Amino acid sequence: MYQYDLIVIGSGPAGRRAAIQAAKLEKRVLVVEQGRRVGGVSVHTGTIPSKTLRETALNLTGWRERGFYGRSYRVKQEISAEDLRRRLLITLDHEVEVLEHQFSRNRVHQLRGRASFVDPHTLDIEKTDGEIVRVTGASVLLAVGTRPYRPPHIPFDNDAVLDSDELLEIKRVPRSMIVVGAGVIGIEYATIFSALDTQVTVVEPRDSMLDFIDKEIVEDFTYQLRDRNMKLIFGQAVEAVQREEGGGKCRVTLKSGRTLQAEMVLFAAGRVGATDSLNLAAAGLEADNRGRLKVDPETFQTAVPHIYAAGDVVGFPSLASTSMEQGRIAARHAVGVPASEPPQYFPYGIYAVPEISTCGLTEEEVLQRGIPYETGIAHFRETSRGHIMGLDTGMLKMIFSLKTRRLLGVHIVGEGATELVHIGQAVLNLKGTVEYFVENTFNYPTLAEAYKIAGLDAWNRMGEGPKEAPVATGQSTDTAADVPSDTKKKAASK
Ligand SMILES: Cc1cc2nc3c(=O)[nH]c(=O)nc-3n(C[C@H](O)[C@H](O)[C@H](O)COP(=O)(O)OP(=O)(O)OC[C@H]3O[C@@H](n4cnc5c(N)ncnc54)[C@H](O)[C@@H]3O)c2cc1C
Repeated sequence: MYQYDLIVIGSGPAGRRAAIQAAKLEKRVLVVEQGRRVGGVSVHTGTIPSKTLRETALNLTGWRERGFYGRSYRVKQEISAEDLRRRLLITLDHEVEVLEHQFSRNRVHQLRGRASFVDPHTLDIEKTDGEIVRVTGASVLLAVGTRPYRPPHIPFDNDAVLDSDELLEIKRVPRSMIVVGAGVIGIEYATIFSALDTQVTVVEPRDSMLDFIDKEIVEDFTYQLRDRNMKLIFGQAVEAVQREEGGGKCRVTLKSGRTLQAEMVLFAAGRVGATDSLNLAAAGLEADNRGRLKVDPETFQTAVPHIYAAGDVVGFPSLASTSMEQGRIAARHAVGVPASEPPQYFPYGIYAVPEISTCGLTEEEVLQRGIPYETGIAHFRETSRGHIMGLDTGMLKMIFSLKTRRLLGVHIVGEGATELVHIGQAVLNLKGTVEYFVENTFNYPTLAEAYKIAGLDAWNRMGEGPKEAPVATGQSTDTAADVPSDTKKKAASK
């Protein structure tokens, strides 16, 4: 009766994973993408470009070697915007190629154009040449993502006052930059440009940043940023942004009356769901004031049961990694194939310089729940690998339940944090205890050895566990109440 079993709007992580999943279940799938190339924000303006930029900046500046050769060490003295873009373009081409191949191999149909609802099962796709193609689907997945929030009082000029999409097109590396917003995107770019020797000032209206991260980790991170001369201004909102006539400096006036000057301003204060052109009303749907859609967190169904939404358009955690998983679950539900429950914990990675990564409960959450606990901390400079790499910063923190001895949370700041966190994630999801870290052998010399050091640090204060604890596997038989809640509940509380 319908042309397609599933129509997916958007080819970012959520849409891509959903489409491939449904195609693998031998369903007729169409992906509609308004962009010139597939991949979404993740490939073209978000995850991959920002991480490529970070890698290029760290390589060209010799950042990782400065522990040995001093703060003035540089691999390349003058780093140009062209240096930064070259690697970006190669990486993006490669990503798009892999995606296109995945779609064609799995016989996913594609249409380029902007989709909007005609009725709950029918969509019009407006191609760039104006032609309109009408398609029908038994189910529809909205994986349209977000775009930067651009309030009208900010004079964006695609040259010196920029949002995070435009930042990727800069023609020069600025000597100074003001970043408005200390969210994940603002902080990532602020620290990347600081590594490129740009004098960076971050302005954030709230009194703190990254509130969902363990406070001790944020304190260590903040200390590192200030130590390298980044200015962090909290508790002050931006009133106005102006640029001097003739393309001069940018002036940012804060509500307090203070003014700041810089060559460039990055406005990174939030994103809005890209739902305005979907004609949601024709489908019986409505977005919230930030363009986001509400879904059932188990199935990703919207208020109209055959229409699903997944990825950034449904809100926190707004990660490429979690968007993929949401897309997969939504697609399976849409075509009537049950999805296994996702594991309890997912990691959150912040690719700032230095990296932060976290999985499970923060110390503040553990305290809030009244769980008796102990923490263990390791500094990377305590590991032999850290000595070899010349690291004098970086720390790993674990939190254990005193009752069950289970790991409740792992929090890392420093080199390799986003990779290292997966050891903690595995132990968390397999319900391992402090004994896992104390009794297992870790490769030597590695940064992963920090897990052993932190485990021992906690164990020294926790003492021996009950003899019957099955320590060989790290599995606890205790399923007491202080087992952390599932990630969906955590997500809902953010
Ligand atoms: C600067 C930055 C850095 C980031 N870094 C990370 C990171 O390090 N790790 C991480 O996990 N996540 C990161 N993210 C987040 C990550 O990019 C998003 O979570 C992810 O892209 C969301 O995927 P999605 O499938 O929801 O949609 P998107 O990737 O946003 O894709 C949506 C697609 O839908 C298309 N579309 C929209 N409306 C229509 C329409 N009406 N018709 C047709 N097509 C339409 C758009 O053109 C777009 O291609 C970052 C984001 C940004 C902005």
